[in-house]
Amino acid sequence: MIFTRKYKVVTPRPLRLGGAEIAYATSVRYLGVQLDQKLHWKEYIKTELSKTYASLWACKKGRDCGFSPKISIWLYKMVLLQRLMSAAVVWWLTAERAEVRNRLKALQGNFLRAATGAMKTTPTDALEAVLDLPPLGLLLVGKAELTAYRLVCPGEWIPARAAYTELNSPAAIKALIKPSTNSKRIWETMEELKKLEKHNKTTLAWVPGHGGIHGNEKAGRLTKQGSLSETVAQPVGVPSVVGQKAIKNKIQREHTHRWKNIESCRKARAAMLGPSSTRAKQLLNMDKKDLSTVIRLLAGHGIFKAHCKTIGISEDALCRFCKVEPEDCLHIMCDCPALAVTRLQCWGIGFLTSDRISRRKASDFSRLAIKAGIEI
Ligand SMILES: [Zn+2]
Repeated sequence: MIFTRKYKVVTPRPLRLGGAEIAYATSVRYLGVQLDQKLHWKEYIKTELSKTYASLWACKKGRDCGFSPKISIWLYKMVLLQRLMSAAVVWWLTAERAEVRNRLKALQGNFLRAATGAMKTTPTDALEAVLDLPPLGLLLVGKAELTAYRLVCPGEWIPARAAYTELNSPAAIKALIKPSTNSKRIWETMEELKKLEKHNKTTLAWVPGHGGIHGNEKAGRLTKQGSLSETVAQPVGVPSVVGQKAIKNKIQREHTHRWKNIESCRKARAAMLGPSSTRAKQLLNMDKKDLSTVIRLLAGHGIFKAHCKTIGISEDALCRFCKVEPEDCLHIMCDCPALAVTRLQCWGIGFLTSDRISRRKASDFSRLAIKAGIEI
């Protein structure tokens, strides 16, 4: 198999083994990863997504049967995503392409809507914020970083670096490229170069004299400085868990930043200031019916009359209780005068602003829905 980025792949002379011709392959499976000639990963991603979809349907069986939302999401995060992202360290860059990014987003959205009983129109961004689950593209990058970090710690990751060595004597270069030497100095230099070549692409270049070349003058100064000074400190290691935690925190920060800066999900953003692990835990401890109701209230996608009018299944947008204002999730939770007494009984306050909603417990919303008799 030949790896190349060229548009036209020129196949060289066929290989022969014992008189038999060995055909070149266009893709090959290695360590469970399907490698293609141009490293586009199309075939691999397609296969892995199909496998993940097939497994997902086993986790959801309608609104009232199958695994509980907590178990479904645990299986998704701990089994299915881990399998999908097992080789993230080699193909994570492909996930930046719009086509792959959209397919990953669709996968996560379809699963979350099915697992939580959310309405089909609920945006994936809103569900990810409610359940504190970062977008799949971000999780993939995080997984690749964690793998790279795990390999760097024991020294198993070899970063590609280039070393450029300049010498001011052509005779020294000639002596260094010879296979043997009688000089101890040249032999020591050869050994040092061998060490350097293990992790670097090394180039030897002849530079006539040091004067006037900025890099050489600086190298000369640093060599003198280094030979005169003594080591005053030793590097101190840190537990690998510190690095892992930093990578996970970075993903959480990026998720919050994206949520605050997206242009869609206006009502959901008013009801949720950002993803919250506490709220996600409270939600996943509910049964599927209550979870579905709370998600519909927080995301704004449910059988609210204003939303029904927007998606074209109702002509009337006015609130079913007060018949005065359009009925959406914020109107029900904050402003509806006909539900002021219910809110007072449930939450101790008749009217509230949207920023105070995000501080409420998940169970408060299901209590309000039950008390008000709202079917959403
Ligand atoms: Zn109302």
